[in-house]
Amino acid sequence: MIYLKYVLKEIVTEKKDIFLSVLFGYLAGMTAIVLFGVSGYLVSKAALAPPLYTLAFLIAGVKLMGFFRALSRYGERYFSHRATFTMLSNIRTSFFEKLEPLAPRIFEKYRSGDLLARIVGDVENLQNFFLRVFYPPILLILVFLSTIFFVVFYSWWIALLIFIGLIMTGLIIPAWFTIRQTKMKSRMREARADLSTEATELLYGFLDLKIYRKLEGKEAQLTNASEAYIFEQEREGDTAMFNHAINSMASFTVSWLVLTVGAFLVTEGQLDGVFLAMLVMITLTMFENATPMAVLPDHLEDNRRAAERLYSVVEGSEAETSPPSSVKIPNKQALAIEFKKVSYTFPGERKPAIEEVSFQLPAGSKTAIVGPSGSGKSTLLQLLLGIFGTDNGEVYIEDSEVNHISKDDLWSKTNVVLQENHFFYGTIRENLLIAHNSLTDETLNSVLKKVELQQFSLDDQVLEKAENLSGGEKQRLAIARAMLKGERLWLLDEPASSIDALTEKNIYAHLLHQAQNDTLVLVSHRLTGLEKMDQIIVMEQGKVIEAGTYNELIDKKGYFYHMKQIEKDVLM
Ligand code: ADP
Ligand code: MG
Repeated sequence: MIYLKYVLKEIVTEKKDIFLSVLFGYLAGMTAIVLFGVSGYLVSKAALAPPLYTLAFLIAGVKLMGFFRALSRYGERYFSHRATFTMLSNIRTSFFEKLEPLAPRIFEKYRSGDLLARIVGDVENLQNFFLRVFYPPILLILVFLSTIFFVVFYSWWIALLIFIGLIMTGLIIPAWFTIRQTKMKSRMREARADLSTEATELLYGFLDLKIYRKLEGKEAQLTNASEAYIFEQEREGDTAMFNHAINSMASFTVSWLVLTVGAFLVTEGQLDGVFLAMLVMITLTMFENATPMAVLPDHLEDNRRAAERLYSVVEGSEAETSPPSSVKIPNKQALAIEFKKVSYTFPGERKPAIEEVSFQLPAGSKTAIVGPSGSGKSTLLQLLLGIFGTDNGEVYIEDSEVNHISKDDLWSKTNVVLQENHFFYGTIRENLLIAHNSLTDETLNSVLKKVELQQFSLDDQVLEKAENLSGGEKQRLAIARAMLKGERLWLLDEPASSIDALTEKNIYAHLLHQAQNDTLVLVSHRLTGLEKMDQIIVMEQGKVIEAGTYNELIDKKGYFYHMKQIEKDVLM
């Protein structure tokens, strides 16, 4: 239940629309009752052959009510749907705002298909919360009480019967369904998430599954997930039908009792016979408002689970981001960086990825970080970007600890090329303009030339995940994007690992020229061309094992020197 409070909070913000939908819903309910009540009275009255003007008056009343009923029903639908859709969009926005800060780590816990199912499916489910859970009981009580108030003037007994009907359909039967429901434990949402997860994995991994001849097994898993989902859907459908049937049975029983008791009262002379048909019609119509109560427990349980699945993802996200990190870093100035005994272990891992790493990068210096794969180079850059918080030690940019720096500010002032770069479906131009909106085609083309992609036109298409580009082309496009950004801190994570040596050399020349007065950190997969660097940091198993200039490291004849020898031998 606790998670539904978030949904309730969204509902309450739409007070005006809620009030209007209840008002129009009430009017629609009441006009329907009056409409059928008057019709019943009209039929009985007509049998007694009253003066024509009485009948004409009643007929006019029936027509007028029909008209009002349609109008207020329209108002009810209009306002309740408007409230629902505003609420849904509020939920999506607030959910996304809570999810965003968790983004880098969210995939440790959730698979993308599952997340998608939650964001789309579970939010969609919450649309029923207002329409099917929050609203029907309010309307039911308002309409029933008004009707009972009216019926009391004709017969206490019939009013009492209707009241019992209200208790049955509005309280006892829904409560019984709720108990049944919690015993059954619907697995619908979980089944849908499983299906969505299996489907995304199959689609993402289709090629690999085919090459490794594992497609059939995965397909079978998908089929199982699909069948489980269908089974759950069917079961839910059955339950809903059963609930409907029970609820209708109760309504009709009460209406039948009204008829029987009414007939008895007429023969006893306690009720004028001309009102009997009216009372029966009123009862029948009134129970229309009780029908939604049959599916209410279903929807309540559904929404409870949907809210739980949705909000458990982002739970505590406010608490995590609580210390306000609002310090800004200086504008248009090369930045000094310092790591002080920094350690970091990934959640759930035993071995630290970074252990007691310390170094200083003066403002405007050029640094290369080298070391075997898995030695913690990428993690180091991520710590510098504040994507993960350090376990121990501090990372300083100028005078500020990175945790205190506003991430938006930090990220907007760094030219980053990550090991994996994302490109969006669209044109080359659109993908480059991510750096800055206002760049001219001329600038874009000149940078494309620097990364030797001059054969590309700005209007060329980039497919989803840049599938139509080679690894090296993607890297060059990412470098171009960083160059276009033109900030004063460069963080490059093996930006040229898929680019041939000659092109790499030319691109680096352009890069170093543009960055000549800036602070630059380059994680390098190759040991050539590092002579120009001010400092080389050698990492192994999360630790800095050597640091110095190229010549210092060669003279020292340590780890770097040996790696260099091996590289030479391999290349010879
Ligand atoms: P490098 O960039 O030097 O190749 P990384 O910094 O990517 O190395 O990784 C350092 C270590 O941290 C590796 O042992 C790797 O397995 C581990 N690691 C990297 N990313 C994660 C992650 N998201 N979760 C758990 N462990 C990780
Ligand atoms: Mg790496």
